[in-house]
Amino acid sequence: MEIEIATIGGYEEVGRNMTAVRVDDDIVVFDMGLNLSQVLIHDDVRTEQMHSLDLIDMGAIPDDRVMSELEGDVKAIVPTHGHLDHIGAIGKLAHRYDAPVVGSPFTIELVRQEIDDESKFDVDNDLVKMEAGETMEIGDEVDMEFVHVTHSIVGAVSPVLHTPEGAIVYGLDKRIDHNPVLEDPFDMERFEELGDEGVLCYIEDCTNAGRKGRTPSESLAREHLRDTLTSFEDYTGGIVATTFSSHVERVYSLVEFAKEIGRKPILLGRSMEKYTNTARDLGYPIPDDLEIYGHRRSRERAFKRIMNEGKGNFLPVVTGHQGEPRAMLTRMARDETPFQFDEGDKVVFSARVIPEPTNEGQRYAAEKLLKMQGARIYDEVHVSGHLREEGHYQMLEAVRPDNIIPAHQSLSGVAPYVDLAESQGYTTGEDLHISRNGNVVQLTE
Ligand SMILES: [Zn+2]
Repeated sequence: MEIEIATIGGYEEVGRNMTAVRVDDDIVVFDMGLNLSQVLIHDDVRTEQMHSLDLIDMGAIPDDRVMSELEGDVKAIVPTHGHLDHIGAIGKLAHRYDAPVVGSPFTIELVRQEIDDESKFDVDNDLVKMEAGETMEIGDEVDMEFVHVTHSIVGAVSPVLHTPEGAIVYGLDKRIDHNPVLEDPFDMERFEELGDEGVLCYIEDCTNAGRKGRTPSESLAREHLRDTLTSFEDYTGGIVATTFSSHVERVYSLVEFAKEIGRKPILLGRSMEKYTNTARDLGYPIPDDLEIYGHRRSRERAFKRIMNEGKGNFLPVVTGHQGEPRAMLTRMARDETPFQFDEGDKVVFSARVIPEPTNEGQRYAAEKLLKMQGARIYDEVHVSGHLREEGHYQMLEAVRPDNIIPAHQSLSGVAPYVDLAESQGYTTGEDLHISRNGNVVQLTE
């Protein structure tokens, strides 16, 4: 049985993830992501109207031309979760494959919206929802299972291909969270069982492999947020919070603590509307009466109401945690909305700056503008969605793979993981495969 893995995108950068696994004639593609920073450095690029090849040349989406080297048929395109670096290229690439897109219900809803927004290509791949714990048939001898994992977005899974040669576990992106806010705990038991059954290859998310210790649970970010917001309980001026709009659990906590300190939460921004409404439609506990305004006019009205009725009655939760020029917080900082900051008003960033020069520059500018208006900044009320060192040790102990392929980082970002895996007995070039975009790793012949 021939098994090979094409490492297509995300092996030289954080972003544009894509990996294909071929088991004889059956191919499964994991993730088709967008590298947003490669888009943002160009002014006013509208990706919806752009051709795939131009986006490939920009380094924005995976260069999937290596797929022609794989002899077989693509049976499924499988995004692990709804972050753009995992689903953002589906609108540009999926139509080239006669295969369904298979994902968790939350992920598939976001994929559906991506495809609706796509204006260059007609994407008519079937969209198939599969829950964690379920299995589907891929070929005569290959099945695919979804294992529930915890990450900074709900509905994340690790897909596992069961082949006669052993399992192939695609492990992007996750942290081991035993106490998440809305979801079930990380399914470590299943990973241990997979290790007992035999894992041929494990593809691992190396994002935070260079950070010591373990990634804290979302419940810790929640407590940090509660502590920060309740410390403002007697403050009667303006408080504004910003976070990842796709981080449903975090938004949920913000809404809850706004009420706890006697303020009405109001979500502002197009992506806040998109993710929060999607979560509510799928049954996540977003209150029915929560006010969410995505469009410009309704946002303007909401800001005017906040100013008229008194900033002390509200907690606006807005987009713009990375200082994105067009996001709500940045517009507020530039004084382009009716919201007026007063000396001492609070701005809570429930996010970390994504360590990348474009983000760092934009975030610096946004903070500077906010401070010039008198705002006080509360930074990094946040925990990461990616495993650190200790989580990687735990995963290797559980999964015990025959082969490892590190992913989701540049070469320098992969290096700490390589050290860690070597300390656990793996050998680079033998069973630890450091790959680059466009390579094919042959596992069995
Ligand atoms: Zn992610």
